[in-house]
Amino acid sequence: MVAGAALVAVAIDEHGRAVTTTTTTTTTTTTEPAPPTTANWSALAASLAGSLVLPSDPTYAGDALLYNAKFVDLRPRAIAYCASASDVARCVDFAGEHQVALAARSGGHSYGGYSSCAGLVVDVSRLSSISLDAGASSATVGAGAKLIDVYNGLARYDRLLPSGSCPTVGIAGITLGGGIGVFARKYGLTLDNLRQLELVTADGRVVTASDVDHADLLWASRGGGGGNFAIATSFTFTLHPIPEVTLFTLQYPWPAAAALLEAWQHWIAAAPDELWADCQLLSQGGYGYLAQTSGVYCGSPAALTALLASLEGAIGTAASYRFIGAKDYMDAMAIEAGCAGISVAACRLSTQGPAGTLSRSAYSAKSSYVDGPMSAAAIAGVVAAVERLATDAPTVGGALAFDAYGGAINRVAADASAFVHRDKLACIQATYSWSSATPDSEIEAGARWLTWLGAEVFDPTSGAYQNYIDPTLADWPRAYYGANLPRLEDVKRRYDPENRFTFAQSIPRAS
Ligand SMILES: Cc1cc2nc3c(=O)[nH]c(=O)nc-3n(C[C@H](O)[C@H](O)[C@H](O)COP(=O)(O)OP(=O)(O)OC[C@H]3O[C@@H](n4cnc5c(N)ncnc54)[C@H](O)[C@@H]3O)c2cc1C
Repeated sequence: MVAGAALVAVAIDEHGRAVTTTTTTTTTTTTEPAPPTTANWSALAASLAGSLVLPSDPTYAGDALLYNAKFVDLRPRAIAYCASASDVARCVDFAGEHQVALAARSGGHSYGGYSSCAGLVVDVSRLSSISLDAGASSATVGAGAKLIDVYNGLARYDRLLPSGSCPTVGIAGITLGGGIGVFARKYGLTLDNLRQLELVTADGRVVTASDVDHADLLWASRGGGGGNFAIATSFTFTLHPIPEVTLFTLQYPWPAAAALLEAWQHWIAAAPDELWADCQLLSQGGYGYLAQTSGVYCGSPAALTALLASLEGAIGTAASYRFIGAKDYMDAMAIEAGCAGISVAACRLSTQGPAGTLSRSAYSAKSSYVDGPMSAAAIAGVVAAVERLATDAPTVGGALAFDAYGGAINRVAADASAFVHRDKLACIQATYSWSSATPDSEIEAGARWLTWLGAEVFDPTSGAYQNYIDPTLADWPRAYYGANLPRLEDVKRRYDPENRFTFAQSIPRAS
């Protein structure tokens, strides 16, 4: 090492403060900034148009929760419910001034719990307005809007934004990392429809990133993942007219699982953009297995029935359950969301609104991709993997689910946005979930199952979906970002040189 050269490391201490350790060839000094005082927090609270929740507040325990119920030990120093971009900027400035860890939170669905931290959680859920331009060709959506409210707000104008199925996911997290959903083969991922966004950068500036200004920040925000570069406060999206919508579900007895997956992968590869489908192989936690495909078609039931005929013929086994039906767009989105028959207000978490009826859940997951049709041996391996979960953890429910890519998703060049996964047949997600009654031994068996899948069943070179962020993934930078990683590291270096936005899998700065 050159004499006097310094190595600077930043770690977060138990108070949520950034501790800087500077090592030179001759000395090591550790600088522990003074933690914010009660007066500092009070001053921050007084400066916000929104509100600040501290551990002493009666709502704190609920306010600290994320969607995944396995994150039980979250103890942020404070949660700021920001009411404006200026509020967000004040929080960023405060965190910098007091060297407090910072995490942005929209819907709180991060698989890794990365929208919480030991310091200041910057919650944007009050930034939830939705406004359309005069011709309803685009909409500006507050960064804290939840998907069910986005769908409902746009449907009033006969417009849609393609995005995910879960109604309580936040628009910020899903957009910044991808956004796969039932209209993605027709209209692209959510991020493909992002025209510009407003963000608060690490130095507390409010900027608009577009094709003209801060274009590299727009590029990075299309797939570079949440929490990495800045805190988004609003997104402007291209909208699409709502098409005729037909849903389908086909379920099969378990012995037909391999035939279903074999036929499905060839069928969806050749399907028109108007069709999106998944294929799920489930172990139902003591209630047997299920093999099914379901999806959404932009067109009539008659046209979908004709498309399904080739799939059903190739499977060669009669479906045990078969549904094909036209649906009103919002009814279809409610069905996809698991909210059939309940109101939009009820289709929220109880922590997201007074009328919310949905519950949090405890789960773990791992993702991978398939580039093209799998061999018969690989398909047999997938079926056996589901059966292994049932053997190892009989009361834990789990699945291997294939979400179709292709169509509009794959027509975007891999370097046109930070989202690199543009040549895939499908994303495969392994999940298992549990309840408070599940024995620890079974939860641990489920974790071992995911580890085994990652090592023995999934192709380690095919990548992983950054929105199914996976704290156990070793080579995550390459898996999430592939060849786009160096450019992301460069954007990180320029927009966040002091690494204010940091978590276990945040993008490193280029040196
Ligand atoms: C039940 C469930 C269903 C899902 N279904 C789908 C699906 O159909 N399709 C799909 O593509 N994905 C799906 N996902 C994955 C989802 O896209 C990601 O978990 C996403 O990151 C969640 O976004 P969020 O805003 O709710 O989460 P958060 O936890 O709030 O945020 C996720 C990450 O983004 C950061 N972030 C949050 N707000 C901001 C902001 N304003 N500016 C900058 N960074 C921010 C956070 O710090 C965190 O690192 C699903 C997840 C769950 C739990």
